Amino acid sequence: MKKICTFTGAAMGEDPIYAECAYQLGQMIASRQLGLVYGGGKMGLMGRVADGVIEAGGHVTGIIPRFLDSVEIGHAGVTKLHIMDTMHQRKEMMYAESDAFIVLPGGLGTLDETMEIATWRQLGLHQKPIIVLNLNGYWQHLLDQIQHIIDAGFMHHGNVPHLEQADTLDEIADYLDCVANGSMATATVNAVTSG
Ligand code: AMP
Repeated sequence: MKKICTFTGAAMGEDPIYAECAYQLGQMIASRQLGLVYGGGKMGLMGRVADGVIEAGGHVTGIIPRFLDSVEIGHAGVTKLHIMDTMHQRKEMMYAESDAFIVLPGGLGTLDETMEIATWRQLGLHQKPIIVLNLNGYWQHLLDQIQHIIDAGFMHHGNVPHLEQADTLDEIADYLDCVANGSMATATVNAVTSG
């Protein structure tokens, strides 16, 4: 089973559209017989993605560090909950278990997870797709900053992008169709790059 990892907030955010989108993403993952890998909590958007998968009968792997298990309250409905000793072990396992990454709105934890896996891709340690869902422009400042980094000569991607961008859940649905059909191609989403 191909597994999709989501990075997203342990908060819900102000706009209810974020929670709705998170839940729908979970349902889309399950309906394509893909598995979810995520941070294991039941709080915020991360919990809503897991709810969406679970309520559609899908497979969820939650990976949570022991000290957060009580704070983020490990999700009781997940198929498998791994309790790790440290945050770094948690991230390592999330990365190892997953075939692709989808980034929804979130805070510093989401940024940290996204930047680390993108950096590893930049270093050639993996080639797994990392798709930033720029829902209602939520990640526009980050995408602009990445473009600024490229323009200022601090990121040399050549012809190989390190992140992909989707603007709508429909684009994510098309992408997940590709994954479910055995293609990990990112043809349905745009690379975050310029020259
Ligand atoms: P946030 O985006 O800040 O709401 O956090 C989302 C997820 O990232 C949660 O599962 C947090 O446990 C995790 N997280 C928070 N802070 C960090 C951090 N410094 N490094 C890695 N993960 C974090």
